[in-house]
Amino acid sequence: MSVISLKEPEVVIREKRLGSITGFEGTASDLVQRAQAGKLHECTRSFSQCMNCGSGNALCQLSMIRDAAIVNHAPVGCAGDFFNYNYVYRVGQMSRDLPPSNGRYFNTNVDENDTIFGGTVKLENTVRAAYERVHPKAIFITTSCAVAIIGDDVEETANRLSEELNIPVVACFCEGFRSKIWTSGFDAAYHSIVRKIVKPPRKKTNKVNVINFWGSHIFDELLESLGYEAQYIVPFSTVAALEYISEAVATIQICPTLGTYLGAALEQVYGVPEMKSPPGYGIAGTDIWLRELEKVLDREAEIEKVILREHVRLLPQIEAYRKIFQGKKAYITAGAAHGHSLIALLRELGFTVQGAAIFHHDPFYDNGEAVSDALAHAVKTYGDVPHYNVCNKQAYELMNILSKVRPDIMIARHGGMTIWGAKLGIPTLLIGDEQLLFGYQGLLNYAERLLETLDNKEFVTNLSKHSTIPYTKWWLEQDPFFFLGRNQNVEVY
Ligand code: SF4
Repeated sequence: MSVISLKEPEVVIREKRLGSITGFEGTASDLVQRAQAGKLHECTRSFSQCMNCGSGNALCQLSMIRDAAIVNHAPVGCAGDFFNYNYVYRVGQMSRDLPPSNGRYFNTNVDENDTIFGGTVKLENTVRAAYERVHPKAIFITTSCAVAIIGDDVEETANRLSEELNIPVVACFCEGFRSKIWTSGFDAAYHSIVRKIVKPPRKKTNKVNVINFWGSHIFDELLESLGYEAQYIVPFSTVAALEYISEAVATIQICPTLGTYLGAALEQVYGVPEMKSPPGYGIAGTDIWLRELEKVLDREAEIEKVILREHVRLLPQIEAYRKIFQGKKAYITAGAAHGHSLIALLRELGFTVQGAAIFHHDPFYDNGEAVSDALAHAVKTYGDVPHYNVCNKQAYELMNILSKVRPDIMIARHGGMTIWGAKLGIPTLLIGDEQLLFGYQGLLNYAERLLETLDNKEFVTNLSKHSTIPYTKWWLEQDPFFFLGRNQNVEVY
């Protein structure tokens, strides 16, 4: 278990806090055993094609707090992802019947002069301008590599402006070069919220925190039937609502990779119990998840009825899908816990999971409970995944593997990855709303989408005929892990 300290302005990155890695190749069971034995070690790539930036992950949580503003203290290029989050924000407003409004994102435009003379004056002026223009209830300052290198005192500036403007002005230390694991950016955002926004509880409420991205509100009905209210955090919440997430009766998360830090922080600092189980994907996962919910909310009889009713309703339908998908081969590329959940879903539906390229691996989550390990659950319940690699979106590795294994379907989690399957004529599915796949009904929703994707192969077949692949024949004939420092001798493809 990691110990959450709110005294430090900066969150400890995942490499140090959890021992997380971005390089591994072997089997899923081997990875689980090494992680559980404390023997996980990073295999370093001698060539890296691209990476994400933790600043984007921090922004993805902070940018949709409805009455907050973001000041990105950075060269303007670091703000290249603003439009993307504004788009997601606007779409999410429509699906929630919220009035349309643009995100309130500002950038300090750090330039060469600032890197020599310092950028804090520019930062102060930008924070004041943001305050005057949009009157936010809080301002989050996200940091960048440039301001971290020159050593701008962002914490001191934020504290001073907080007093001057009489609202929380909160530094969020999420510069990209801080960590190779971009999900450290989620932790940085949550650290800034728990450190400076959340207040001690006044009383307990019947609310259940749901740490999520911006998916559909699938927990409302279940929690209402049990006498509780779902409180979706952090996107689309308000500063006032975030102040008292400490009053919730429990915290559940759609994905432990996303919410591990916030769940643990609320439990350790304010005593809000965190659900500790693999996420509820697939029949077995949902059974475990609901039984943990029984304990946390003390609703055993009611939830057992739900489990029974849903098994009767769904199992015959699932069986029909299993017959359709039996023998089909799938390959997954996704973030950690969600990727593990996709393994469970596909195996539950009868697919053979040939392999997975998962963006990083946390040997444990902040709560330290082995029971929360989504990959261990998938391996224990459905068996091993023979070709499992931890790969932080290195497209050259992925293309090499795909061109060799040629699955019937590729499942991708991030938009930039789907094109690689499509270029090879492999039907590729990306579902942005992870809530759509959660729970018993989620399995059926997923089966439908898989069927649609497999039935519409013509598009990718035609696309592949007119696509060029940027990798040479030489590379595609190499061992896909040619550039990955090996941790063992394993046979590859
Ligand atoms: S990695 Fe650094 S320079 Fe690149 S976008 Fe992130 S903060 Fe900016």
